[in-house]
This record gives sequence, structure tokens and C-alpha cells, in this order.
Amino acid sequence: MVVVGGSAAGMFAALTLARAGHKVTLVERDDVQSEQRPGAPQAFQSHSYLARFVHNLRDVAPDVQQQLMDEGAKAYGADYFPPWISDRQPRPEMADCVTLSCRRNVFDAVLARALAREPGVTLVRSSVRGLLTSDDAAPPTVVGVGTDAGELRADLVVDATGRRSRFAQWVTAAGGLVDEGAQAPCGNMYYTRFYAVHDGLPEPMMQRGFGEAADLGYMAAVAFQGEGATFSISLQLEDDDEPMRAVRDADVFETVARRTPVGRHIDPELSSPISGVHVMAGLVNRLCRLVVDGKPGVLGLVQVGDSVCITNPSFGRGVSFASGMAVRLRDALQTHSDMGDVALDYDASHDVDVLPWFTNAVALDVATRGRWRAALYGEPAEAPARHALDWRDLFNAAMRDRVAFDAMLGAANLLVTPEQALATGAEALAAIRADGWVPPFPPPTPREAMLEAAQGASVS
Ligand SMILES: Cc1cc2nc3c(=O)[nH]c(=O)nc-3n(C[C@H](O)[C@H](O)[C@H](O)COP(=O)(O)OP(=O)(O)OC[C@H]3O[C@@H](n4cnc5c(N)ncnc54)[C@H](O)[C@@H]3O)c2cc1C
Repeated sequence: MVVVGGSAAGMFAALTLARAGHKVTLVERDDVQSEQRPGAPQAFQSHSYLARFVHNLRDVAPDVQQQLMDEGAKAYGADYFPPWISDRQPRPEMADCVTLSCRRNVFDAVLARALAREPGVTLVRSSVRGLLTSDDAAPPTVVGVGTDAGELRADLVVDATGRRSRFAQWVTAAGGLVDEGAQAPCGNMYYTRFYAVHDGLPEPMMQRGFGEAADLGYMAAVAFQGEGATFSISLQLEDDDEPMRAVRDADVFETVARRTPVGRHIDPELSSPISGVHVMAGLVNRLCRLVVDGKPGVLGLVQVGDSVCITNPSFGRGVSFASGMAVRLRDALQTHSDMGDVALDYDASHDVDVLPWFTNAVALDVATRGRWRAALYGEPAEAPARHALDWRDLFNAAMRDRVAFDAMLGAANLLVTPEQALATGAEALAAIRADGWVPPFPPPTPREAMLEAAQGASVS
């Protein structure tokens, strides 16, 4: 089979399928181990890897998990509690809720080296230009791809070309059907800078171990541990917040980041920057499927990773979704010989593994954008969906109640669905609604003061 796209999803799929006995050709146009990756600029944004990914990696490739740890990746358990929670005893059912920290470019380099050694995987550095399909069939059957290096024929083509995948257009052009159903803009941009703690100093203490996040009511700030002594800070801004775009400049970035709750980690006594400011825009929530009205819209082609589903990066779900899709695809291929059955079985897994969190992401994004835009521009906010209000209350409950905390962490790590977490936390949620408690976070820097600080910082 041919896997197109050799980033997180493609590499994990190639590894999973090769270890299940398939002969895999992996086609990627970029050098994923270089500092230049035009095909995946998010490789230079903050990343961490949720428990669902950790489970899949352990099952598929424990040796690669070890290689990541050897490279300095760090594992954080579910025992980093908010200060208002008094029950801090370990619970066996949370023992497997482990998040992995590693910069994404380092993570990809480890996977790439593992694949280069993997029997059953052939690596081709080339760009795929289109599909090869069999004549006159309905739905069309994909029999390979055309690349810059010539044609590659395959019994199955796996599209792992990410958020800018062109496969949906190619399928439609070939007479097939695609359900591009849901698409909702995230409406924000990411600005990220990486740091390293000085030799001999301990890593920064982050609220959830692997990281921490703060919503300032008009922007957000995130800190993530990386491998070894590295960590990152990301600022998330509304995508039309022109004056704050000055954070692209490193001095302005630091000035603004220091005024956020995660800014305490930026301290020249403790750490130094090891990168410039990386920017990523054009973010959407999107779900694209190749089964339409219960029938495969194309045969011989499946998608994995961001080609199927993208959610707001602030949830950190993409690589975990991708790993789960690879495992589901492997299982569908083991169960069925007919490609139509493979397509249906695999597609059905998205309803279980992806859809509940996609729906959650869209609802939360609408609510967050509404709040931010009301604060920034005085725009009237659309009433948040019921789910978003429930989630806000569960979040508050999770700050003081252990059951709600574990439930929310399980959903955030893609181990239980958001609806299951709401059901588990129902009692704590009702208590919050009854007494109206909100976590007493320190008040954020007001927007005007932040803007003033940004404008006062030197722009080089
Ligand atoms: C700011 C930001 C932060 C994020 N943080 C997290 C996080 O913390 N945790 C997490 O799990 N996820 C996170 N994500 C999401 C994660 O980055 C993606 O889900 C993940 O990169 C998807 O991997 P992919 O392999 O599907 O696509 P990509 O990584 O986009 O890779 C697609 C690959 O396909 C190649 N390609 C494309 N077209 C062709 C072609 N025609 N021929 C050959 N090759 C081609 C490209 O060169 C590229 O290497 C974040 C995303 C962003 C934007």
C-alpha cells in the first residue's frame, strides 16, 4: 500500500501497518528532519501528546516509545491537581492517564529514524500530484498515485497529507463522493517561542505537569514542557487582532507573554530562548469523510490524521486522533478483505473516536470566540450551546472536586467522551450551579494594559 504524507499521521500509519505485515511505501515531499518544513509548519508549534496517543504508541511500537524517552521526552501523570482539591490520593483508574512532552520536530525526527530502519517500509521523497483510478467504475477505485518520481500502484492508498490535503478535490474530480460536512473556523492564530532551562536548573513547574493554560478573556497563553530542558510558550490571539500581531517580534512577544499567567516561566535567570517566534494562522475545525450516505464515495482510498479531522490546536488532539485512526485502519484491514467493507468499518470508527470531541471543539470555540470578540470589539455574542455551558461548569467543578477533575482529564486525554465526563461529574456540576463557586484565579492583565505594554516594547 502507499501512504502519502510522512508527518505524524503518515509515519504512525506506516509503522502500524508495516508491523501488521503490510508492505508500505511512504511518500513525503519534505525532509521531516530538517528545520524547513513548508508542508507542516505546525511542527514548530507547541505540542504535547495525550494519553490516547501514549496507549497506541505503547501497543504498536514500544521500542519507539523508548526511543522518544531516550531523546528526552517526559511523561506526566494525572496527579497535578489545582490547589482547591484536597483529595490527592492516587487512583488506580487514572494510572494510565499519562501525557507525553516532546517538541514536535524532535518527535517527528524520532519517528522518521524508526521508519528508516523498519523492514516493510520504503521511503520515497516526492510529491504526489494526483490519483490513478480504474476506468468507469462507480464509485471510482483508486489504484495508485502519480508522483514527481513516476506512478506508484497500490491496493490501498492512505492519504495522510494533513490540513491542506487535496485528495477530496481529486476524489470529486474522479467522479467519487466526499462528505466535507462540518467546517468551522477557530478564528485565532498561534505565536510560539521555544526556551531551554539553564544547565543544572530544574524544569519549570507547570500546573498540569506537562503544561498549563490561561484564558485572559480576549486571548490565551499556554506553556508546554518539551523534551529534556526545553519548553515552549504560545500566545493564542483572535485572527483579526491587528495591534497584538506585533507579538511576532521577539521582544514584543516576551513583553506580552510575561504579563500572562504562564509568563513566570520566562526568566533570564532560569532559561533562554532557543528559537524565534513561529506563527500559525488559518486554523479551522473540520471533519471530512469518504463514506457518504452509508456508502463509500471512493474505493481503495482512506484518509488518516488531519485529512480526516482538525480541531482547535489548543485541545492538542491531532496526533492522538491520527494514532487511533492508524490502529482502526489496521484492524479493519485484518477483519475484511473487501475494500468497501474496510471503508465502512474504518469510517464508522470516526463516530466513536473523533466525532464526540469534534462536536465538543466546535461548541467550545463558538463560546470562546463570542466572549473574546465581545471583550475586544463589543460584538454581541451568540448564545453558547448547552454543551459549552455544561463544559464551562464542569471545568469550574474540576478545579475543586476530584471526581470532576478526573472526569475532565479523562475526556481531555481522549479516554472518555466529553458526554461521559459530564455524566460522571454531574453531582459536582450540580453543586457548582447551586453555590456559584468559580476558581479564584488572579485577575488577568486587562486588554488595554496589555496593548500598551505591547506598543511600548521595541519592535526590531
Ligand atoms: C499550533 C498548533 C498546535 C498543535 N498542538 C498539538 C498538540 O499539542 N498535540 C497534538 O496532538 N496535536 C497538535 N496539533 C495538531 C497536529 O499538529 C496535527 O494534528 C498533526 O500535525 C497532523 O498530522 P498529519 O500527519 O495528519 O498532517 P501534517 O503534520 O500536516 O503533515 C502532512 C504531511 O503531508 C505532506 N504532504 C502534503 N501534501 C503532499 C503531497 N501531495 N505529496 C507528498 N507529501 C505531501 C506534507 O509535507 C506534510 O509533511 C497542533 C496543531 C497546530 C496548528
